[in-house]
Amino acid sequence: MSFKALQLIKPILKSIADSGYDEPTLVQERCIPIILEKKDIIASAQTGTGKTAAFALPILQLLFDKQDASKRGKKIRALIISPTRELAAQINANFKTYAKYTNLRSLVVFGGTSIEPQIDVLKKGVDILIATPGRLLDLHKQDYINLDYIETLVLDEADLMLDMGFIDDVKKIERLCPETKQTLLFSATIPYKVEQLANGILKSPERIDV
Ligand code: AMP
Repeated sequence: MSFKALQLIKPILKSIADSGYDEPTLVQERCIPIILEKKDIIASAQTGTGKTAAFALPILQLLFDKQDASKRGKKIRALIISPTRELAAQINANFKTYAKYTNLRSLVVFGGTSIEPQIDVLKKGVDILIATPGRLLDLHKQDYINLDYIETLVLDEADLMLDMGFIDDVKKIERLCPETKQTLLFSATIPYKVEQLANGILKSPERIDV
């Protein structure tokens, strides 16, 4: 299997080549076609399997395909929720690498650090926001973030998110996004409480285990 066979477009394929990836990993091979069809996913995948690219590449493609210049950089259209700052920063670094030939802009926001620089970038406009739950809700409450245009929501490391006590925040964030959005849930393991969360928010999801 090649990345090209996954129907990825040139600007995305170019950044993959720059990254030196020869072929998709298993989780990428299974997730990318489903995400490009705009379906919901619940996937069990550990860190290290290539799961970040498994959602980042098709999200960038969906946003790029629908990109019209007037909309670009003005509305947040993809939101990735991560339980920890380190992971959130890592996801943003990956998005920046893969978005190199697309003009799409991403930003990471998390707590424990000054909020003003994050607000400054938000004011300029981003297409993709990566966030930890608390800081996201804080910025939303202060009206710096509008979630009305979210097309894809990703909950990464969902099991860790619940272990860290973010369940109510996650549910709240999900409800702030449009009903019509696509939702992708990634988790190292799928214990009962993750399944319960998934049942509450996913629409006819494809289940992927790698
Ligand atoms: P992740 O599971 O998202 O934390 O990714 C683990 C590592 O695998 C990261 O350093 C990625 O840059 C790398 N990676 C992702 N996809 C591929 C691929 N198809 N081929 C080789 N390395 C990859």
